[in-house]
Amino acid sequence: MKALIIEDAPEFVLAVAEILKEAEFEVLVAETGHAGLDVAATDQPDMIILDLGLPDLDGIEVCGRLRSITDAYIVIVTARTADVDLAAGFAAGADDYVTKPFSAIELNSRVRAVMRRARRRTDMADALGLSLDPAERSVCFSGKTAELTQTEFRILGRLLLEDGGVVSRETIAETLWGGRWDGVSHTIDVHISNLRKKLRDIGWPGRVATVRGVGLRIEELPAAA
Ligand code: CA
Repeated sequence: MKALIIEDAPEFVLAVAEILKEAEFEVLVAETGHAGLDVAATDQPDMIILDLGLPDLDGIEVCGRLRSITDAYIVIVTARTADVDLAAGFAAGADDYVTKPFSAIELNSRVRAVMRRARRRTDMADALGLSLDPAERSVCFSGKTAELTQTEFRILGRLLLEDGGVVSRETIAETLWGGRWDGVSHTIDVHISNLRKKLRDIGWPGRVATVRGVGLRIEELPAAA
């Protein structure tokens, strides 16, 4: 798995990188917000450690922009007392936070959360007979491959995380756009209907079911009699 550290303070980068490498992450580093956004778009890391104090862009702004291009697990780094940052960070789509000064125990628990999440997604995909390729943004069933758009891929990834449970449209919107969702749900419906068609086209026998008034669930159809 890949982790991206977006931070300009070298001693912090070194300390975080050491922990991530121990957990067998490939570590990428960007010293500015702009560079971080570029690397995130190109390399699609599984985890992003984002310091909110960056030399070029506002950290919260970077967080929101990251959320619209990646479903990486975003961990914001903030001063121990900055509750305001935390609220804004979560609204912008952050998944978790660590505080400065930096604690290895704290970061390790986030690393484990990322690994659990990746495992849950892979297990669920396996159970449904699907395999996902994040680098190619494709999904494969029984030797047939569908290329997905970034949005379709992220919706599928979010549904797989739920282990057969229902995901609300609001949750999907937050996954895609953080707190910047305009509240118009039919945009999501278009992406979902395209995703459904692509899964049908590769012959996958399951479905992305609409649970009326609640949300969506990915499910395997019972074997035909
Ligand atoms: Ca900094």
